[in-house]
Amino acid sequence: MKLIVCVRCNELFNLSHTYKQCTGAHGGGQYVGDLNARIWGDQRDIVAIGFANSSFADAVRAQYQIGDLAKTFAYGGEMVSPGRPFNAFVMPDSTPSIKRVQTKAEYDAL
Ligand SMILES: [Zn+2]
Repeated sequence: MKLIVCVRCNELFNLSHTYKQCTGAHGGGQYVGDLNARIWGDQRDIVAIGFANSSFADAVRAQYQIGDLAKTFAYGGEMVSPGRPFNAFVMPDSTPSIKRVQTKAEYDAL
């Protein structure tokens, strides 16, 4: 699963097959096929994020099946459960599954 963060707008949203952009129009993008995506925006403003899908599914499954009640979730002291972790990563521009351009005009011309 691919998402993008706009650092300037403080927004995080998923990429889908329908084009989306941040509120301030600093960048946006969409999937092209089931794996690849194209995005636009300066890499200092627009950050591509990937979820490791299997890790995310495992965390959701564990949350539903095991839960985080004190009886079933081993977490000591008076602290509140942190929930189930999963792996996510910042995707570099060198990844073959994302094509980034700098401007919306360049994006529209792809
Ligand atoms: Zn923005």
